[in-house]
Amino acid sequence: SSRARYIGRFAPSPTGPLHAGSLVAALASWLDARAHGGQWLVRIEDIDPPRCQAGADAEILRQLAACGLHSDAPVVWQSARHALYEAALQQLQNQGLCYPCGCTRKDVEAAWQAMGLPHERHVERPYPGTCRHGLHGKPARAWRFAIEQQIQELQSKPPKTITHHAQPATSSIAIASAQLESAAPVLHWRDRRLGPQQQNLGAQVGDFVLRRADGLWAYQLAVVVDDAAQGVTHVVRGEDLTDNTPRQLMLQQGLALPQPSYLHTPLVRMDNGEKLSKQHGAPAVDVSAPLAALQAAAASLGLAALPQAPDGAHRGAQSPAAALTLALDFWVACWRQTYNIAP
Ligand code: GLU
Repeated sequence: SSRARYIGRFAPSPTGPLHAGSLVAALASWLDARAHGGQWLVRIEDIDPPRCQAGADAEILRQLAACGLHSDAPVVWQSARHALYEAALQQLQNQGLCYPCGCTRKDVEAAWQAMGLPHERHVERPYPGTCRHGLHGKPARAWRFAIEQQIQELQSKPPKTITHHAQPATSSIAIASAQLESAAPVLHWRDRRLGPQQQNLGAQVGDFVLRRADGLWAYQLAVVVDDAAQGVTHVVRGEDLTDNTPRQLMLQQGLALPQPSYLHTPLVRMDNGEKLSKQHGAPAVDVSAPLAALQAAAASLGLAALPQAPDGAHRGAQSPAAALTLALDFWVACWRQTYNIAP
């Protein structure tokens, strides 16, 4: 068959129960998997214990179940997968693609100060590269990915020894040829909803952390390792994560892992325009009214904006299962349009 194998996932952090915003990502990833006749996995991203809330994982699974969303394979918990992350870090160490960093937050701020860039609240500056060529006598605290090293690797190698799981047009990473000689090439990729994206990783992010000073694994490393280990071919997640994608593409390249395609879903905003989030006190999805929650999530995805079902009938869902079926019809009807899904 010409149909590519499809494995999608929903990967919530159990920092609190599911809210309307996270349900949108859950629903979109489920719909896209079903639309492709693929598998949908749930992975609990509980690698940051200080941010996790006791019992939130079970609550999220209970909320998903109430909405008719069930993982097609046993749920995995990142907290049980340290050995995988350790092996990946080791692989990067062996290739010289990461280095230990001894900088405290103060050290990083001082480095920017010395370069004439004083600390400003809300201004996120890239890591200045202070420990790139050695620890300067400081004890190692964190491990960082060596972006420039990886870019040189990419430039010196014949392109593409790596399998693309998904349609190449939707998951390409390339270094702009005009920028090849510069120290900070721009990475290009294509998001299935947002279209062409780019980021100057060196200038905007810098050598990012793989293992934190407190010994915890960074999201970037864990997510890349797990997406590959679980055979994920299509990532569908919230738009707030869009600018993490180039870091993950670079890591996949560094670890010689297949690259999924990416689709970032619209964010749900509160009445005051702020992003709906746990930090802003978004209410939990009410398991006693899953139909309403699903309909709101489908509306956020633009699916309810269609006046009638694709077959021309006017239908109203009476149950979560019926709402999912109807939403799936709409999602499939968006093929080639909004979500750029090959039939
Ligand atoms: N665990 C992340 C979050 O809840 C999502 C990770 C992902 O989908 O890549 O924000």
